[in-house]
Parts: sequence; C-alpha cells; structure tokens
Amino acid sequence: MIFELPPLPYQLNALEPYISEQTMSYHYGKHHQAYIDNLNKLIKNTKFENMPMEEIIIKTAGKSEFSGVFNNAAQSWNHTFFWNTMKPNGGGEPTGELKKKIDRDFGSYDKFKAEFINAAVSQFGSGWAWLAEDKDNGKLVIIKTANGDNPIAHGLIPIIGLDVWEHAYYLDYQNRRADYINNYLNHLVKWN
Ligand code: MN
Repeated sequence: MIFELPPLPYQLNALEPYISEQTMSYHYGKHHQAYIDNLNKLIKNTKFENMPMEEIIIKTAGKSEFSGVFNNAAQSWNHTFFWNTMKPNGGGEPTGELKKKIDRDFGSYDKFKAEFINAAVSQFGSGWAWLAEDKDNGKLVIIKTANGDNPIAHGLIPIIGLDVWEHAYYLDYQNRRADYINNYLNHLVKWN
C-alpha cells in the first residue's frame, strides 16, 4: 500500500490568526508529507507493506527494531487526526454525550481544560497531549506522549490530540507554548 498525504479539511490560511498559513504550509506540506514519504520507503517489501496504518502502529509499538516504522506511521496518523480536530471558528465546550462524560470524569469542563493544558505544557520536548477514552471501561483520560507515540498504541481511543512539537507553534508563538494550547482549546478545537 502506498500511503498518500490526505487533503486538509480547510484552506492553509483558515486557522489564522491562531495558526498562520506559513506554519500550516510547513507543518502539513513538509513535515506531514515527510512522515508519509518515510513510511512508504520503510515498509516497501516488508510485512507491513499491505497493512492499514493503525495496524502498523499497533504491531510496531514498543519494538525497538521497528522504531523507524512506528515513528513515521504514528506521526502520519497523528497529523491527519490533529488536522481533523480543528476548524475555523471552533473552540469552547463540547455538547451532548461528550460534555456529560467530561463532567463525569473530570468534574467540569474547566477542570478538564486545566488538566489538558497542564499535560500539554509539561510534555518535555517533542510530543502530544490527548483526550482519549479507555476501551475497557469507557472512562475519559488525559495523557501526554513523547515524539510520535499515541493513544492507539496503548489501547485507547483518541478524542482530540494536540501537537506540541516546536514545529507546530514556533513560527507563530516562539517559546509561548501555553498561548498556543489556549488558542487551540478556545478558538480551534472541533469536537466530533
Ligand atoms: Mn507536527
């Protein structure tokens, strides 16, 4: 299987002023494309060649001999997921079932928000912050992961995932990662 860069669900400048067209053009057009190109090279003529991306991630997670395949498959998957957790004029609280689950498991949306921001700010170096659901008991959890690691490698179902690698925010925010995280939640997040 040859993986291709999926189309963005909006224009490159649609998330301005919170994420600039310049950032999106590098982040989507160069970084995301490179993860997919690397993955295609690494799986060519291997047992991973005809597997769906999710299966590649699960089969290579935690196996040092496949760390290159894992990192590039997970980062390819993570970015597609991340683009789809945002929309222009997004942000704010979810509604319906998700709102009920957030209240049940975190106490309130504000408490969820504080915990998510803390996870995203405190991820040391490159990585991601996630809201995910535990398949076994349906409970919501906030986790942070390093580099390309993600919830599906740990049996969790991701609900939102925020990229906190410097390439995601440095052109727009420099060292102000907290401002980028707050803008994601207040102005961009799309609750599916
Ligand atoms: Mn990224």
